[in-house]
Amino acid sequence: MPITANNPELKSWLKVSADSDFPIQNIPFGVFLTKEHVVTIGTRIGDYAIDLGALQQLNYFEGIELTDDMFMQDTLNDFISDGKRTWRAVRNRIAELFCESNETLQKNEKHREIVIFNLDDVEMQLPVLIGDYTDFYSSKEHATNVGAMFRDPDNALLPNWLHIPVGYHGRSSTIIPSDIPVHRPMGQTLAPDATNPTFGPSKRVDFELETAFITTDANIMGEPIPAGEAEDYIFGMVLLNDWSARDVQKWEYVPLGPFLAKSFASSISPWIVTMEALEPFRTAGPKQDPEPLDYLKVEGDQAFDIKLEVSLKPEGGEENLLATSNFKYMYWSMSQQLTHHTSNGCRVNSGDMMGSGTISGPTPDSFGSMLELTWGGKNPIKLSDGTERKFIDDNDTVIMRGYCKNDEVRIGFGEVCTKLLPPYQKK
Ligand code: MN
Repeated sequence: MPITANNPELKSWLKVSADSDFPIQNIPFGVFLTKEHVVTIGTRIGDYAIDLGALQQLNYFEGIELTDDMFMQDTLNDFISDGKRTWRAVRNRIAELFCESNETLQKNEKHREIVIFNLDDVEMQLPVLIGDYTDFYSSKEHATNVGAMFRDPDNALLPNWLHIPVGYHGRSSTIIPSDIPVHRPMGQTLAPDATNPTFGPSKRVDFELETAFITTDANIMGEPIPAGEAEDYIFGMVLLNDWSARDVQKWEYVPLGPFLAKSFASSISPWIVTMEALEPFRTAGPKQDPEPLDYLKVEGDQAFDIKLEVSLKPEGGEENLLATSNFKYMYWSMSQQLTHHTSNGCRVNSGDMMGSGTISGPTPDSFGSMLELTWGGKNPIKLSDGTERKFIDDNDTVIMRGYCKNDEVRIGFGEVCTKLLPPYQKK
């Protein structure tokens, strides 16, 4: 079955502005809450949220093998479990229904009222129940910058880095969708020049500009996924702000890696953009030298040209662009990450999320964290209102955006927008 949904000629009968991240060629998947407090699985075209549960009830998916309540659920896990053939059939059908030349739903006012919502009238939820969350560390520029700051500028990359997609097991309980504020975490830190640690609000709260991919059921326990097949198990991608408390991280990370500095919050964009929609933006990644071990060898272009940006908006102020980066800078590809992850037999389930790691580019204006942008706080960033930031202040909002664009189409993720609140206080 070809991917007819990607046809750049398609135009929707729903209004889509020219700079929208969500033309009819995107058809991402998400979960939203309607004004009537109904939770449903949906997609998005332009600024319209489309209720796939209602579409299914009205029989618009006839001929596609789906369980009866496939889209009347509060997570996408079951749909993702159904695999690539189903994802493709459903995207193709949605593209067909909403394409200009198709009048079936277009001319049925009653059905349109049940199915289509203004985006402002729905509240986006987490799209999947995330059982496990793994975060990689796959940007060479980021790993080099952090290694230089935290350890030794002359040996910034540890000896394993060029051989292993380094990662750690994160925490899924505190993954939240865009627009949910986050409290500054409390934590144990060792102040510079101090001999004893103290406990208090983190003084170095930072963002990490990342993407993440969502998997389908990939294997049974014990079964490794060959590198050449790994892509079949990746459903799609989201933007990820992997919040980090740098002062906590610096003190706690030896010898077992990140712990409480990372687990207080991770924010994601609510629409999962499918790998099929991203297919036109496939491109070559960085050359890997030394050559990876055989089990990590992959053929063909493994990267995707996804433009990324991060902005900071102080309370009541305007947005300040802090950095622009690109997913294609990632040294290790998603296939290699997933292959490595399962190489020991670790089981990967539908709805698992794997973060890329901070995506820094080669130039200082493409660094994906305040840690790097201000070089550990040494070079504060001046904002348009005249104030300075070394890290994120209380009531600042961090906004990440990502999109792909060629001559024919723009496919984007929308944004992940999160306000940092002062430390939690029991009311
Ligand atoms: Mn991270």
